[in-house]
Amino acid sequence: MARKVLVLGEVRDGSLRNVSFEAVAAGKAVSEGGEVVGVLIGESVNTLAQELIQFGADRVVTVENEKVASYTSDGFSQSLLAVLEAEKAEGLILGHTALGKDLAPKLAAKLQAGLVSDATAIEVAGGNVVFTRPIYSGKAFEKKIFTDSFIFATVRPNNIGVLEKDESRTGNVSSISVDVKDLRTVIKEVVRKATEGVDLSEAKVVVAGGRGVKSEDGFEPLKELASVLGGAVGASRGACDAEYCDYSLQIGQTGKVVTPDLYIACGISGAIQHLAGMSNSKVIVAINKDPEANIFKVADYGIVGDLFEVVPMLTEEFKKL
Ligand code: FAD
Repeated sequence: MARKVLVLGEVRDGSLRNVSFEAVAAGKAVSEGGEVVGVLIGESVNTLAQELIQFGADRVVTVENEKVASYTSDGFSQSLLAVLEAEKAEGLILGHTALGKDLAPKLAAKLQAGLVSDATAIEVAGGNVVFTRPIYSGKAFEKKIFTDSFIFATVRPNNIGVLEKDESRTGNVSSISVDVKDLRTVIKEVVRKATEGVDLSEAKVVVAGGRGVKSEDGFEPLKELASVLGGAVGASRGACDAEYCDYSLQIGQTGKVVTPDLYIACGISGAIQHLAGMSNSKVIVAINKDPEANIFKVADYGIVGDLFEVVPMLTEEFKKL
């Protein structure tokens, strides 16, 4: 059944996050040949509309307003609800990012709609749109279908894949004026921690360190390997708790969920709470000096050895490629 689906483009530092294009690809599947409408909310976001179209959106609707220059759940939910109302859309897809995780449940409650969160795959089978999502900290997957007509999901970054960019694609860009009001939170200033390199949630390669790195300086060889591979550095909670690195790097049940093409775990034992954040990575390499470490159970390649010897060796070899 062809349907009109809205897809939120997520903007960070003036650019669209990659998950926005994955959301478009998801929207395309959910639309079943209907229309995919990109939605951009913020200040001066219309300049990004064509990129959403080049990645597969049929057209884009913007809500431009200084009150939504920064994300707040009140401002964005009012804006998206206004677009949904104007467009009479039958589906909505967001990225399963910090923003999506905050916004989607609020919208679902307002819309009295069901929500499939953290979808990792979408297929159309037997007349139903079937969503796959991990459960029990990634130990199993469940498949979900909607029994009501409105389809609403968030998609996990790095899983759905993006459609091929077509620079010749064009589409209409229109704007909707929304009277954003009664904001309970107003963002006065955004103070960012200096983060180096690639965004951890969207990185194709993650080099993660655990308590085995032993100190803040122990992360240096990991940073070098990540830089040679064009990847990001992550960490276990053990490493964060020991103050070897910032909590923004934590991967796991209470940290970030990552699904890179390559995950290199260095000095990480593989506690269940850590596996919850990385076990769906496409290829997992574990470096640990304990051959019994649990991380080897999920690893595709295991290296039993001292990370301070193995990691620099890997870096030197990758430099030659
Ligand atoms: P350890 O378990 O101490 O493992 C260190 C490993 O390094 C060992 O396997 C050791 O053999 C190896 N090693 C040591 N030296 C070297 C060397 N030179 N070379 C190679 N290997 C070496 N954890 C998370 O990671 N993410 C979460 O989100 C998370 N959430 C949690 C939520 C709850 C409610 C709870 C209770 C716990 C949570 N934890 C989480 C903590 C989790 O249970 C583990 O304690 C933690 O993951 C352990 O971190 P680690 O593997 O770095 O440390």
